[in-house]
Order: sequence, then structure tokens, then C-alpha cells
Amino acid sequence: MDNPAPSSKNEIKNNPKPVFKFPVPWLVILLAAGFFLLPNLFGGSSTGKEISWQKFSNEILSRKAIEKIVVINKEKATVYVRKEKMNDPFFRTDLKKKLSDEINPGPQYWFNIGSVEMFEKKMEEAEKNIPAKDRTEILYVQNNKLFPELLSWLIPLALLLFFWSMMAGRMSGIGSGGPSIFNFGRSNATLVEKEGSTITFEDVAGLEEAETEVKEIVDFLKAPEKFTKVGAKIPKGIILVGPPGTGKTLLAKAVAGEAQVPFFSISGSAFVEMFVGVGASRVRDLFKTAKQKTPCILFIDEIDAIGRSRGKGAYLSGSNDERESTLNQLLTEMDGFDTNSGVIVLAATNRADLLDPALLRPGRFDRHIYLELPNLREREEIFKVHVRKLVMQDDLDLHMLSTQTPGFSGADIANICNEAALITARNKKDKIGKAEFLEAIERVVAGMERKSKIISPEEKQIIAYHEAGHAVASWMLKQIDPLLKVSIIPRGKSLGAAWYLPEEKNIRASSAFHEHLCATLAGRAAEEIVFGEVSSGALDDLEKVTKEAYTMVMFYGFSSKIGNISFYDSTGQSESTLVKPYSEETGKMMDEEVRQLVASNYEKAKDLLNENRPLLVEVAEQLLKTEILYKEDLEKILGKKAIPAPIHA
Ligand code: ATP
Repeated sequence: MDNPAPSSKNEIKNNPKPVFKFPVPWLVILLAAGFFLLPNLFGGSSTGKEISWQKFSNEILSRKAIEKIVVINKEKATVYVRKEKMNDPFFRTDLKKKLSDEINPGPQYWFNIGSVEMFEKKMEEAEKNIPAKDRTEILYVQNNKLFPELLSWLIPLALLLFFWSMMAGRMSGIGSGGPSIFNFGRSNATLVEKEGSTITFEDVAGLEEAETEVKEIVDFLKAPEKFTKVGAKIPKGIILVGPPGTGKTLLAKAVAGEAQVPFFSISGSAFVEMFVGVGASRVRDLFKTAKQKTPCILFIDEIDAIGRSRGKGAYLSGSNDERESTLNQLLTEMDGFDTNSGVIVLAATNRADLLDPALLRPGRFDRHIYLELPNLREREEIFKVHVRKLVMQDDLDLHMLSTQTPGFSGADIANICNEAALITARNKKDKIGKAEFLEAIERVVAGMERKSKIISPEEKQIIAYHEAGHAVASWMLKQIDPLLKVSIIPRGKSLGAAWYLPEEKNIRASSAFHEHLCATLAGRAAEEIVFGEVSSGALDDLEKVTKEAYTMVMFYGFSSKIGNISFYDSTGQSESTLVKPYSEETGKMMDEEVRQLVASNYEKAKDLLNENRPLLVEVAEQLLKTEILYKEDLEKILGKKAIPAPIHA
């Protein structure tokens, strides 16, 4: 997904009012003051050393060294020792005082008295043998406790606020510039002002149908009277559905750029917070801000984060009141603004099936535009857009590059162009050439070449035969896509790979699926027939085979035992239910069918390779020598690839 990243200097956050920031430095001062003041107020160093009543009565009182006792707030007795007694060895050691130290005016000790009555009783008992006039002087004072009390609840409160504001900032993923506790409920949409919208339809390639649909919106935003004059209502909301990287965000930005209107962009997940009500308040705020900037475009990326069907999957994902209230607010807002008000909401999602039907109904998101992965021609056009800024060799064949990138999205192609430029720069070349592009494609598909990975000769042999198995079987099977190359150079996580050039087909015959299973299993089959044992190297193949076999049986109705039944659920609702849509018996039958399908195709692969064993050995040995074999090399060993017979209607 493209980040709604700043695209111009004009980009600003949509917070027109100044944001009040929590005074963190003050908080720190307050905390520090608290830490220093509290001990003093509640009995720290200035009230002397804490002692027990026993020590006081047995060791101190008996020395006749006390000048007075001051009882503070009827709680705490502070003991003042006579100045002349301070240099007694007992006090010197007890109070760790050196002879040279100045005499502390006191108090030197303190203890809690419990209650005044008890204290007086105990004192009387302790001094019963002393004449009344010589007894210790006891004074009672009342200190104003308002300040310490105030501090004692202010500090925890300040701490709480401090941590809350920290959490709020963090959860919004934005640092100090992000929402503080005082603007928590405000939307954090990015606004690109109209002068800042530099993306136009020129930058979007291969999305002609989608472009035609959204052009109407551009026309409306440019000259609304043309439509309103004849009573036409322009759609309020348009939802762009498609796989990741197919250009949904790009298209939305292009609409804003073409219409020269402000563009608000926000991701659905930015509404969702831990605190109930925040999302709804952000939706309200977003629409309020957008209405002040009409005509404008409001783009909500990944709308499924808030627009998920209410109640769906509640017991799997945990019901989410916050998300539902945010969605309700969005529905209300979309109802609330007038069709011709000039705010047009564009939303993007990869999963339209998950969205709440209420959101998709006419009057809200009434237009749905489906974007698909680009086909050969569209890929070439996307390449053209992205190579505009690159310094390339003149003879570079973009058509060839698009044939090498089946199943790639626009974002993948953009990435390849950038990778190719990076590789060129790294190789200290001046112009990007074919080799750099091919290297970039491989890197995007399979990861970096890992030449440093240590592979033993035995392992290498297994890998070579495994890949040769795929190569030979797929060459012999008519409906398998043409092989582009096989390699045993480790890349990313894989140790070797066979690269095909898939033809773009909308439907495939069941026999093509069978052949695909057979070719995928041929790697393991080659290992078995050559080494008499299989290895763990086929993990990826087995995963693919299992998934494909289940798809054949459960979805496409390719199994005669199960019949023309499909458990495919295009609404996506089965994901949220724990109950399987078929009986235990059918489940067992499907498992059996899948096992049978895989086993029979594995046998077929073994037969095929046994019949062509000399070719298998030749390809593998050649691979061990050169590590990589291209289509032309394979043709030399295996001859021309068989062409598939057309499907009969
Ligand atoms: P997601 O579903 O992940 O949000 P998306 O569909 O919004 O993805 P974008 O963010 O629009 O995809 O595309 C990412 C990038 O891919 C774009 O910035 C652009 O460079 C490139 N791109 C995608 N599609 C096209 C296209 N049709 N033409 C030109 N460039 C494209």
C-alpha cells in the first residue's frame, strides 16, 4: 500500500486550531519537587532519626539528656537533645556525629506516638520516679497539612496523566507531534491541498476502465452545475476493491490531482483505538473538517479495518464495540451529508467481502470499482510510467520485461524499476540494462542470491535432480506453462527454482490442474527414482500440491465422488463460523479423494521421469555444471516444448 506520504510542501495536518501540548517539563519539575519535598514533610531527615518507643524509653530518656519533645499533629513525637549532651559518646555514635561537626539544633529523633493518651500514659509510667518539675517538657503543635496532602494526591494524578498522554501518543503511532490527550478524539488525516496534488491520470497506467468511472467524479468536482442542472446526483462514495498494490491509492490521488481539489487521506486503522468512542469522534471530526474544505476528496484506505460486517466473527475475534461504534458513526456521517455537497468519499480495500452490507448500499458507497492484477499489456504500460525517470539503455525491451512479470502488481513493477536502478548504481554502471532488470525481477520474486550459503556436493546433487525433475516433467506436459529457466543457485529461502512463464488464462481445464500437480510432484519423484529416497526439500511443493488438490476437490467439483459441489464461499462468511458446511462423512471422502489425487499424480510423475530418465540425468548433470539453464539450453537437451491442444467447447 502506498503511504499517504507527504507529496508536497503544502501538505499539512488538518488541525487548524493550535494543539495544546501537555507541559511535560513542568510535570518533571513537579515530580522532582514532590520527591524532594515529601520526605521532608512526612518525616525525612529534618525530623531526625526514627526510633522505637523501647529505644527511646530505655536508652534515651534514662540519660536525662532531653530538652523537649514536640508532638506534631498528635501523631509524631520529635525529640530534641540538649546541646551540651550532644557530644556524649552515646549520641555521637548513635547519630554518627563527629566532634568537629556542628551541633544540630534538633529534633534528633522521632517516633510515632499512636495516640496522645497512650503517649502521655507511657511517658508518665517512664518518668514516675522523677519529680514533676524535672520531667520532660512536652509541647503539642499543629502543622498545616494541606500542602503535603495536596501533593500526595496531585503527584499520583500527574503521574497518571503523564503515562496516559504517553500511551495516547504511542498508540496513535505518532511521537510528540501526534495527538495529545487533549486532541485524542480528533482525526489525524493527512491533507494535501489542491496545489499540492501532483499526481494525475498520466501516472496511472493500465486501469482504463477504472479511470473512466472515476473521471465522472473529476468532471463533477470541476463543474458540479453541469450535473446538478439536470437533477443528477453524483455518487457520495466509491469503493475501490483489489489486491494489494494494484493502484487504489494512486487512483484516488490522481482523482484529487486532476480535479485540483484538497485530498484528505486516512487509513481505516487510524480510527481504531483502545478507548471506546474515540474512533467515532475521529470520524465526526474528519467529516467536519472535510466539509469546511468542499469540494474535496476524502480517501479512507483499508476501510475493512472499520467497515467489517457488524457481529461477524464476534466470537472468533472478540466482539469489538469500538469498531462497531466507529462504523455506525461512519454510516451516519455518510447519510448526513448531502449528495451534492462536494465531499466525495473514496475508500479502498482488499477484502470487499468482509464489509458490512450497510456500508455498500446505494447512498453510501454506491459505486464499486474492481481493480485487478495487470495483464501483459497493462504491465507494459505500468513499466512505461515507471521508467520515465530512469536512465536506461536505449534498446531496452519493456514488452520482454512485462512477459517476465506475470502476476505482478503495479507496486511490484514500481519496486522492480527501483531495484534495477539500485543494482545499476551498485555495479557502478551509467545506464540500466536488461541484465539489471532481470536481476531485479529475480530478487523481487525469490530474494537475494545467496552465493555464500554453504551447500555440500551431496545436497547440491539432490537439488539438481529435484529441479531437473520439475524441468523435464513440465517440458513433457503439454498444459504446463513454458519453462523460462531452472536454477540451483540459492535465493532467499529457496535452494533452487524452476521459473515458468504463465500464460494469462481465465479458465483452466481439469486436466491442466492434474498436469500441474504432476509437474509440482516431479521434483520429489526424481529424487525417489534416482536416489531411492526422498528428502525434505520438497516441503514447498507439497504445500502447494495439498492446497491445489483440496481446491480441486472442494471448490471446483473435479472429483467424481464428491460431484459438482463447491464449498467455496464468496461472501467470506464461512471464515467466521466454526461449523463446517459439510458432513463428517463428506469430509472424510474429500480427504480420501485428495490423497488419491496426489498419489496418482505422483505415480504419473515417476512414470514420466522413468520413461525420460536419460534426459533427466542430462539436465541434472548440466545443471550441476552451470547452475542455471535457460529455455534455449533446455531446448537443446529436450527439444521443442509440446504445445497444448485447445480446450474443446
Ligand atoms: P494497498 O491495497 O496495499 O493499499 P494499493 O492498491 O493502494 O495497495 P497503491 O498504493 O496505489 O496500491 O500502489 C503502490 C504503488 O504502486 C504506487 O505508488 C505506484 O507507484 C505503483 N502502482 C500501482 N499501480 C499502478 C498503476 N496502475 N500505474 C502506475 N503505478 C502503479
